[in-house]
Amino acid sequence: MKKATLFVASSIFLAAALWAVQDQWPVHDPNRPMPPVVAPGPAGPPVPPPADAVVLFDGKSLASWTDAKGQPVKWKVENGYMEVVPKTGAIRTVRGFGDCQLHVEWMAPTPAKGTGQDRGNSGVFFMDLYEVQVLDCYENKTYADGMTAAIYGQHPPLVNACRPPGEWQTYDIVFHRPRFETDGKLLAPARMTVFHNGLLVHECAVLTGPTAHKARPPYKTHDAKLPVSLQDHNHPVRYRNIWLRELE
Ligand code: MG
Repeated sequence: MKKATLFVASSIFLAAALWAVQDQWPVHDPNRPMPPVVAPGPAGPPVPPPADAVVLFDGKSLASWTDAKGQPVKWKVENGYMEVVPKTGAIRTVRGFGDCQLHVEWMAPTPAKGTGQDRGNSGVFFMDLYEVQVLDCYENKTYADGMTAAIYGQHPPLVNACRPPGEWQTYDIVFHRPRFETDGKLLAPARMTVFHNGLLVHECAVLTGPTAHKARPPYKTHDAKLPVSLQDHNHPVRYRNIWLRELE
């Protein structure tokens, strides 16, 4: 395809995609319908990483991670998992990644404490910018675009596939980074396909821009490879068995 044709095609795609997104609900709208609850199958053992995976956390070492300032992580590691130590800050991978497939297992604290966003809150960020929400939404209500497995502030999941707190849950996410022209103009938005506990919750969802609270800011050009990060939202959420396959 010629460059001009490609540009027109991608512009049409982009306009249609953004129109579809903007046509939807305001950010955190409490009236936005909640997705149906679907009980997933029972939790299984950790899903072993495939041969071509970059293992980001094997249950023992935090060597692939730093805090936001590049210092060693202060989260707890024990019994094959890491646990958020509240107020020590988010952690991020030493390496940067672009398009990828990520597998992550997490567990909300038990007994559950708090309600709404104040219950088992954390988050998985791609490029330190684009969040899939981690939250305990087992018999816990919050706004639809901020619930478990939501693309925070933008897209609720198709179903609520939460297991009870204290049980391991899985996310399998295919992430495609946004593309920018050399002058910084957006060429293609970021996209995500997400499975929560094996159930499809987003199919090629188009992101409006980076994650924010009570806002949907526009894209800003950035590097092609940036860290994956995990959020400290003051709750002792646990993570184990995190691996990633690079797709570019
Ligand atoms: Mg969060």
